[in-house]
Amino acid sequence: LTDKFQNIFQGLKKKGKLSEADVKAAMKEVKMALLEADVNFKVVKQFVEAVRERSIGQEVMESLTPGQHVIKIVQEEMVRLMGAEKTDLSFSPKPPTVFMMVGLQGAGKTTTCAKLAGLLKKQGKKPLLAACDIYRPAAIKQLQVVGGQLGIPVFSMGDQHDPVDISKAAVAHGVQNHHDVVILDTAGRLHIDEAMMEELVAIKEQIGPQEVLLVVDAMTGQDAVNVAETFNGKIGIDGVILTKLDGDTRGGAALSVRAVTQKPIKFACVGEKLTDIEVFHPQRMTSRILGMGDVLTLIEKAQESMDGKKAAEMEQKLRKAEFTFEDFLDQMQQIKKMGSLSDLMGMIPGMGQQMKNVEFDEKELSKVESIILSMTKAERSDPDLLTPSRKKRIAAGSGNSLQDVNRLVKQYEASKKMMKQMGGMMKGKKGKKGMF
Ligand code: GDP
Ligand code: MG
Repeated sequence: LTDKFQNIFQGLKKKGKLSEADVKAAMKEVKMALLEADVNFKVVKQFVEAVRERSIGQEVMESLTPGQHVIKIVQEEMVRLMGAEKTDLSFSPKPPTVFMMVGLQGAGKTTTCAKLAGLLKKQGKKPLLAACDIYRPAAIKQLQVVGGQLGIPVFSMGDQHDPVDISKAAVAHGVQNHHDVVILDTAGRLHIDEAMMEELVAIKEQIGPQEVLLVVDAMTGQDAVNVAETFNGKIGIDGVILTKLDGDTRGGAALSVRAVTQKPIKFACVGEKLTDIEVFHPQRMTSRILGMGDVLTLIEKAQESMDGKKAAEMEQKLRKAEFTFEDFLDQMQQIKKMGSLSDLMGMIPGMGQQMKNVEFDEKELSKVESIILSMTKAERSDPDLLTPSRKKRIAAGSGNSLQDVNRLVKQYEASKKMMKQMGGMMKGKKGKKGMF
């Protein structure tokens, strides 16, 4: 989807004045791109209509940069589609707050229970995990393992008790041991069936959880949306957690689920590691989908792993697009500490595009490192100095091909350009609500 939108946007940017026909043509492309990305048909129709209506308005046609204006409208409407603002969890005034996780088998419930508990623990809460899936072999053990990795206690009664009774006992155990949050890991089936729904309804009725959170696999696109609609209809849900966004290249589920169910997406899971969970921000998801990178999430990740001063410096540089190869090298080394490299690359504006097909392994990394190390100090801080003959010298000196050097410089320039554009946008919007 990102590729498609970047192409559409490129086309729009080139035009001086836009005619109604231009807008119409662009909207047709937007529509195709969204449908191909597995966005719900009704959602696409409404979305395109909203953008088209606003785009052929007076304000846009008469503005100096109508193309930019249309892009801005697409961004705003996407943000709105996903709920405009982030939606926080609610907590019960009378602890423990119970969160009930539901979803199909394999959606990522058990993993997400642990991830959420880990997140809440970091925020100073004292969560308890409860193993209520008595059907899937080794489900209890799985929860104990992930809970153990995070140092979070797991309540279980084996697989011979009724899930409703286990849930009740878990809450009682939570009260007794002063847990302020209890997270119920319930059973899923491969497909929606009545028995599963009845069991979940029974747990919900007997326990009265603060929130029922539906876990859906983003990679399943519209199926995820159908699942959400059914669960919401039968059980009633309070929010959605999207998993496997790391493997989702289309964005269809993220874009449709809110519009179809009217329930907010609260968290996004982006990997198998127990720290791969983020609060879902519609603005950031939009910029990720549109290929502008996700600078804010990157900065947050960086802040978690770096000391504050270094992160602030990096933020400044990212915003002002002043970073040099020296910083690039520095960042790569920091990034190695932060987690999956390709994930992080996707968050750097422009990099997602360049790096998408590059298998970013350690070998690739040392190649980049060796190239930068072969530059002189001056070259590293002013990449404009890199004439062809200097590049040749660097290639020879670092034992790489001229092509490798050229590619790195191109990647660097592309991301710098993107950052400049973003910097401009952010300046223009200071104090106002918008993309950032
Ligand atoms: P459950 O049946 O709903 O409890 O699902 P599990 O928690 O057992 O997860 C099923 C599989 O999905 C496991 O292999 C998880 O590691 C994997 N998984 C869960 N969340 C994510 C995610 O955000 N990204 C990726 N790549 N894998 C995930
Ligand atoms: Mg499970």
